[in-house]
Amino acid sequence: VATALASAVATTADSAAEGPACAEPLPVLGRDVTVPLVTGGEVTYAALDYAASAPALQRVWDDVAAYAPYYGSVHRGAGYLSQLSTDLFEQSRATVAEFLDCRPADQVVFTRSTTDSLNLLAAVLPVGCQVFVFETEHHASLLPWTDAQVIYLDAPRTPDEAVATLERALADREPYGPALVCVTGASNVTGELWPVKELAAAAHAHGARIVLDAAQLAPHHPVSVRDLDVDWVAFSGHKLYAPFGSGVLAGRADWLQEAEPYLAGGGASRKVARRADGGVDVEWHTTAARHEAGSPNVIGVYSIASACRALRDAGFDGLVARERHLIAQVREGLADVPAVRVLSLFGDDAPRVGVISFVVDGWNSSHFAAALSAEYGIGVRDGLFCAHPLVRTLLGSEPQAQGECGAPEAAPGERSLNAIRVSFGAGT
Ligand code: PLP
Repeated sequence: VATALASAVATTADSAAEGPACAEPLPVLGRDVTVPLVTGGEVTYAALDYAASAPALQRVWDDVAAYAPYYGSVHRGAGYLSQLSTDLFEQSRATVAEFLDCRPADQVVFTRSTTDSLNLLAAVLPVGCQVFVFETEHHASLLPWTDAQVIYLDAPRTPDEAVATLERALADREPYGPALVCVTGASNVTGELWPVKELAAAAHAHGARIVLDAAQLAPHHPVSVRDLDVDWVAFSGHKLYAPFGSGVLAGRADWLQEAEPYLAGGGASRKVARRADGGVDVEWHTTAARHEAGSPNVIGVYSIASACRALRDAGFDGLVARERHLIAQVREGLADVPAVRVLSLFGDDAPRVGVISFVVDGWNSSHFAAALSAEYGIGVRDGLFCAHPLVRTLLGSEPQAQGECGAPEAAPGERSLNAIRVSFGAGT
């Protein structure tokens, strides 16, 4: 497996130069980092865990370094640097809106992550809202809807079945009130693309809205809110080649503006005054600021916008072509190892991004992943990938659920039914 992974990465780097349709890998931090091996010596680290967090683009890092001497408070200062920072902050919002091809009236709210974005949306759902979600979702999409009536949909085995399942569930719903569908664009376990446009059409045909979890889609594919006709989209900076700590929820303003602020505090409030009865009256903003109380993560926001610009400039056509080639190489390499079983919900031919999970017969996945790191310098992830129901379905059995997201601990020598995941992207 180590040979298959290492040679797939190397082969693609060579052949990318030959194929004009393939982009060159984008320079990322840590590309030349060497790591020690338990067997002695050291090797250049192979970062194959982009789905957890992608390495930051060198260009993002350079942009942040160039801006760092000038950063100041945002929306809170009259000084030159505060004004400059405020301008850059708001330009970043416009850059993200453009990157996502938002509609003119859409709002871009800066959050901490996809998890934060979906929790924000959950906090602004209209009273009585029903939420429809496939059991195959990442926990960030599966779990935030604690105040809504959630209808969990069984794992479909084809994209068409996904659409049919949703249509049936929406058609059957009682009572017919506000409803939201939450769906991932690309699975963080199988890398498979979901039929977002068709699901959005089905949702709208039944009077529901839809939010796209683009945490794994946006780093690999262009996302057009307009073309997909989704109501909201969420993604994280740290998976989009920017540093940690920033995320986005973009989309329709109405539910966002009709609800109480996600966080109450300065920045979200336009006017606060004591009342004659001793209480306090608050007028909240009706812009994205309503849900951005407190001093924002200026560097995080700036780096998300920088990553959006870098990906746009590189061009998704070339990046997608390159990644498709790399996916084929990795899958071919793994197919040559008889003990390996690659996990798939929609089948081998389904379109996918560079996220591939597999099990190895006779191996505990934690030990296997640890060996890839210690003996070969290849960094992957093992476990349940914060998608326990999906992994259970894919494995056809009960996985060894341990920590919420972390690697499970199987007894030494015990075969693990959890999986190993390799993932890569624009820097590979
Ligand atoms: N959605 C999907 C599909 C993911 O893969 C992840 C992270 O792995 C998330 C949501 C949550 O992202 P974050 O941890 O940045 O909030």
